[in-house]
Amino acid sequence: MKKTIQIVVLLFSISLNSQTHLSYYFDNSEKFDQTIPKPSEVIGHEVGEWHVTHDKLVKYMYTIANSSDRIIIEETGKTYENRPLLILKVSSPDNLKNLEKIKENHVKITNGIKINEFKNMPAVVYQGFSVHGNEASASNAALLGIYYLAASNESETLEILNNTVILYDPCLNPDGLQRFANWVNSNKNLIPNPDNNDREFSEVWPGGRTNHYWFDLNRDWLPVQLPESKARIKTFTDWLPNIVTDHHEMGTNSTFFFQPGVPSRVNPLIPNFNQELTEKIAKYHSEHLDKIGSLYYSKENYDDFYFGKGSTYPDINGSIGILFEQASSRGHLQQSQNGILTFPFTIKNQLTTIISTLNAASSLRTQLLSYMNEFYIEALDEVNNSKTSGIGFGNNYDKTSSYQLAKVLKSHKIDVFETNSKNYKYYVPLKQKKSRLIRAMFETSTNFQDSLFYDVSAWTFPLAFNVNHEFLKKELEVVKSFDEPKGKVSNFSDYGYLIKPHDYNIPKLINSLQEKGIRIKSSSKSFKINSDYFDYGSLLIPVVGQSISSKNIYDLLNNVSNKTGIDIYALKNGYEDNIGFGSGSFTTIKKPKIGLIVGSGVRAYDAGEIWHLFDTRYEIPITKIDIKNLNRVNLSQYTHVILPSYSGTDLSTTKIQDFLKSGGNLIAYRSSINWLERNKFINVDFIKNDISAKDVSFEDRSKFSGAQVVGGAIFETKIDKSHPISFGFQNDVLPTFRNNTIFMKPEKNSYNNPIKYTKNPLLSGYISNDNLEILKQSVPFKIKRFSSGKIFLFTDNTNFRAFWYGTNRLLMNAIFMSDKM
Ligand SMILES: [Zn+2]
Repeated sequence: MKKTIQIVVLLFSISLNSQTHLSYYFDNSEKFDQTIPKPSEVIGHEVGEWHVTHDKLVKYMYTIANSSDRIIIEETGKTYENRPLLILKVSSPDNLKNLEKIKENHVKITNGIKINEFKNMPAVVYQGFSVHGNEASASNAALLGIYYLAASNESETLEILNNTVILYDPCLNPDGLQRFANWVNSNKNLIPNPDNNDREFSEVWPGGRTNHYWFDLNRDWLPVQLPESKARIKTFTDWLPNIVTDHHEMGTNSTFFFQPGVPSRVNPLIPNFNQELTEKIAKYHSEHLDKIGSLYYSKENYDDFYFGKGSTYPDINGSIGILFEQASSRGHLQQSQNGILTFPFTIKNQLTTIISTLNAASSLRTQLLSYMNEFYIEALDEVNNSKTSGIGFGNNYDKTSSYQLAKVLKSHKIDVFETNSKNYKYYVPLKQKKSRLIRAMFETSTNFQDSLFYDVSAWTFPLAFNVNHEFLKKELEVVKSFDEPKGKVSNFSDYGYLIKPHDYNIPKLINSLQEKGIRIKSSSKSFKINSDYFDYGSLLIPVVGQSISSKNIYDLLNNVSNKTGIDIYALKNGYEDNIGFGSGSFTTIKKPKIGLIVGSGVRAYDAGEIWHLFDTRYEIPITKIDIKNLNRVNLSQYTHVILPSYSGTDLSTTKIQDFLKSGGNLIAYRSSINWLERNKFINVDFIKNDISAKDVSFEDRSKFSGAQVVGGAIFETKIDKSHPISFGFQNDVLPTFRNNTIFMKPEKNSYNNPIKYTKNPLLSGYISNDNLEILKQSVPFKIKRFSSGKIFLFTDNTNFRAFWYGTNRLLMNAIFMSDKM
């Protein structure tokens, strides 16, 4: 027995070693230009021997760019952890000399004018790697792909360089890749060990998939909220590439997948010819993978529905987005259903499809260019025949959210203007190049061909931002391009100041003032001064009793107003229109101290969204407390503890009990509600969907269960504006985002149900009829008491993917207004 193991181990060593030389990846690498540095000469190991760290990847990219006249390298941005985001522009030396001209001519094909000949016009290909940092074969293959492009002098390579401009993005997620490389390298066995149970294959929480704030960057192509996406979308919109590839990894026991995905799940806004071209390109992948004897499949999985993904966003821009998924060795080699899966083999498959894509682009060049040309001509025809002239959105109540939405449009190079209209702050004309993208962002949809979705089924932007909007027949008069809103203080006051509660930045303003020791009160009542309406939750800053002078208060308010875009009204005296500002309905907002529970069992995305919200948007300190350290933390020092969606077993019930007994406020999301119920903190009546299958075959069982999943849809709620959880919302209807099936029955007393779904709540997206009926009888929010503490329960995600500006306020009210509830 022992002997066999030794022999097997020896075989692995041999196979792994033989697989990490260039000759494993290229059968003719000895013919390559030897003056071009090989990856191993720069990174200090063979590709596949170790996982490349991001710093070494960057070093190689700069080295090879400096040694080759086929490459121009550019830094396009920085990650949160200050790592460079790179683009290498790769083409023939002649093309590179005329790159600006080539770009100019290329972008002209999207102007809606028929072009008959595409002579001397290269196709543009964007190749992106490892957007999920722990799907590392892609970025490791990027070392070899760029080496091939710089060093090979085969006719096939020269043809690619002549016929294409390649925008080569060696790592879409540097922070995640670095985190992951550290993990696998530091757990690597020197004697290769494929045992799945080895620590090497199971990263610690939160893993390298996500970026610094634990976001899935492959969902942010449309919302563009994160620096990695901002840099990427800038390159994309500047160039409008014909093909975009997105190289991923999937489960260890799978093989290799390339698009097209499931035909019935293609977004209806994508033209049929897009999928036909994807299939033509796929033939090149098959041919190349056949040559190396690799198993693969297509069309049975994944889809082109949500435009926030890297392989689908291009499709609404006249490009062809292609998803690749490689079975993951996770570490350096691992046992799988298909035998031992080595890291080099996974790299080789990625490399093979890097090259097959470029061959396809080179051979199908005119078809790709002509398709893009047609795409924009048809899009223009559609809007010329449309009764809608454009979309008005936004208002002066919440300048920040309106502005932020306008900014997203700008990121996509969509024309958007400020208006003089009373109803709308911004106007987006539909008669422009990106009309299909605008529709993809603003339209709602509730009818679908398929009931399965790989990701969310709805993302309608004005609903996510909770800004007023309308599809208009008549054009609005536009005034100018726009700047970030700036607020002002109406006057100096010796008495006090009032602030309307509607702007997105109100929590930021409260915190900025509290940080300076200023006392702020909020009003439980709405009131009018002359004709000016002050809504529930309006803020009062009295001058009396503060620790700084009235002059200093005035200066500070000017500063904060300028920074947040919020207007501040000076009070003349203490009694206006039947309101005395000493009234008991104005209560002081306590300065919070907030803890966020993170770690094993917590959904990292949800935790990251909250961390990002406090840290980057509101600039409010938040302490991340890991579950494994909870026992040595005294939670009673925190006023609020947030428990993002939690489904583990390690969270200490005693610690949470003690916290609540000390009068703490616990804010619990999604699965945490089940945990609290299971551990007897709360008593919630859930409504269950216990539908069972009728006439469903074994083969169709996953379709049946999949149809009952709420993957992500938008629902309308009616809010009680007088309840402190709703302070700051201008309207009494609020769209919310939900992606689970936790349904809570309402409380008996109506005033304890401040947020209720409306009679026809589905605004956009997919939900089964059964679930919709249950949803109508449920509520998304509750407050429960436990000892002296309060528990705030949210079934819907108020912070989804950083672009759900519209509901962030609910969480912030649970923080700042908890004393009033
Ligand atoms: Zn992935």
